[in-house]
Amino acid sequence: MRLTRFTDLALRVLMRLAVTDAELPTTRDVAATMEVPYTHTAKVVARLQHLGLVEARRGRGGGLALTAAGRAASVGGVVRELEGAGDVVDCDGATPCPLRGACVLRGALRRAQEAFFAALDPLTVDDLVAAPTGPLLLGIAGGPPGRPASP
Ligand code: SF4
Repeated sequence: MRLTRFTDLALRVLMRLAVTDAELPTTRDVAATMEVPYTHTAKVVARLQHLGLVEARRGRGGGLALTAAGRAASVGGVVRELEGAGDVVDCDGATPCPLRGACVLRGALRRAQEAFFAALDPLTVDDLVAAPTGPLLLGIAGGPPGRPASP
């Protein structure tokens, strides 16, 4: 199974925010660290805020932060939410498959998809930034939050 770029970026944003201490990064900081376009990052951040996993703190020293729910969130739950419940294969698409009414493979693929999500369920966002990932993230974040993002 292949994750959408949106889901992958959402997990990267959550990991980046999971290693933030007192100084909070902006959306531009996160985009620059992860080397992805600002506009994509902003859409992902908005979705994560909507899900209650990320909050934007205003004022001096403000920026993005994980909520308590975001830090404890199950990776499997986040991926399920962002990937949706669609089938791995588009059996009912523009040209529906003639086997779709009685297909053993379709059921097996659904079970395989659920097994994929279930393997991620025990992991929390906080778990994803255990060493060596957390120290690497802090290293590449570099510089004080608020610096301009790369064009
Ligand atoms: S063979 Fe089965 S899984 Fe594949 S498209 Fe047809 S119904 Fe779906």
